[in-house]
Amino acid sequence: MIPRLRPSLGAEELVAAILSRGTVDEFEGSFAQLVGQKHAIAFPYGRTGLMLLLEALGLNDREIICPAFTCVVVPHAIVYSGNQPVFVDSREADFNMDLDLAEAAISEHTGAIIPTSIYGYPVDLDRLSDLRRRHPDIIVIQDCAHSFAAEWQGRPVQRAGDAAIFGLNISKIITSIFGGMVTTDRDDIAARLRRHRDQRLGGPTRAKGFLRATYLLAAVTALCPPVFTLVDRAQKLGLLDRFTKYYDPGRINMPRDFLTAMTDVEASVGLVQLDRYASIIDHRRRIAGVYDEALRDSPGLRPPPLIDGATYSHYSPILQNRAAVMAAMSRRGIELGHVIEYCIPDMQAYRNLNSSPCSCPVAQAFSEQVINLPLHVAPDVAVRVAEALKVSMEDAGATDEPTPIERAAGSS
Ligand SMILES: *Cc1c(COP(=O)(O)O)cnc(C)c1O
Repeated sequence: MIPRLRPSLGAEELVAAILSRGTVDEFEGSFAQLVGQKHAIAFPYGRTGLMLLLEALGLNDREIICPAFTCVVVPHAIVYSGNQPVFVDSREADFNMDLDLAEAAISEHTGAIIPTSIYGYPVDLDRLSDLRRRHPDIIVIQDCAHSFAAEWQGRPVQRAGDAAIFGLNISKIITSIFGGMVTTDRDDIAARLRRHRDQRLGGPTRAKGFLRATYLLAAVTALCPPVFTLVDRAQKLGLLDRFTKYYDPGRINMPRDFLTAMTDVEASVGLVQLDRYASIIDHRRRIAGVYDEALRDSPGLRPPPLIDGATYSHYSPILQNRAAVMAAMSRRGIELGHVIEYCIPDMQAYRNLNSSPCSCPVAQAFSEQVINLPLHVAPDVAVRVAEALKVSMEDAGATDEPTPIERAAGSS
């Protein structure tokens, strides 16, 4: 069985977790260097970083504009910071929030906007600069959890705003087991955020470090090929939901330890991962190219764009009949992902929150039609995955074109 994701974790990370020789300070310094920014500030989760950043910026009871098609922990963090998320639909071209619609959503209550490089596709920084010129008081927070150091025409996305957030859990491009980072070039924001973090977060305990190291060992074991076959079976029976389900569609919540600081165990693993960053990104770009070549002219499937500067946290074609195709692929020994499988304003927790329901047809279509192909595999395996996908689509009767996305079709 080929898992949908396999973090690039080896013996070095396990040794780093056990010896725990690195520190959070060192990890912050090396992280800042990698992304080319003045400051990096570590948190137990990316969502904690976003929440405390909004608080440190003094934003309260304000509207925060974010994509409808993003990770649901983002609006959770907005709500926990005492603000209101305002959801904006995606553009068909690259999965990212439509910045024309985002600009139209700005009101006198808007405090910040969170452009997000979904799947590693860089935010259109030219369009974003126009918006910033017209609305200089609105804080711009780049969500780089999918993109890491993606670039828009040679310009790094993370630097195009007041701050950026990164997620470092085990499903991300690089990982510190759990963890998140906020980066900024602004000394004032960095100083405020550090002070605020040190007040708000409890110190990490030895027990937390030990549990994190154990989690890493379990995750690496679970993703080893023979073990993964069993894990996959258990997953299908729902036996692992307690460990793998990261949200409840009806609730806005945070993990129990979201206010306990990052441990040195995690920082030590993160330090090893930073050294692997360049080769991980090179590999992902190469495999995205292999899939593009193999799938470009397949009927019934829309391949995602191939964009210079994208870092491909996911390679995400869209197609109809997703559940049947995923089941057919699973029978062929290939697990597909379907990140992001929800349109946030349609989730129960947020339907209740919003007085006026928002309509996000593009995000909704993506949430029902996107699949993710594994990017950790070797090129020859990627060719086989693509071939298996074509056959599985026939099996599943998914030979029609993906559902046209109405608003976009009508306006272009
Ligand atoms: C993973 C992720 C985050 C942060 O996630 P945490 O689990 O809180 O570290 C933020 N935004 C997006 C788009 C993500 O995918």
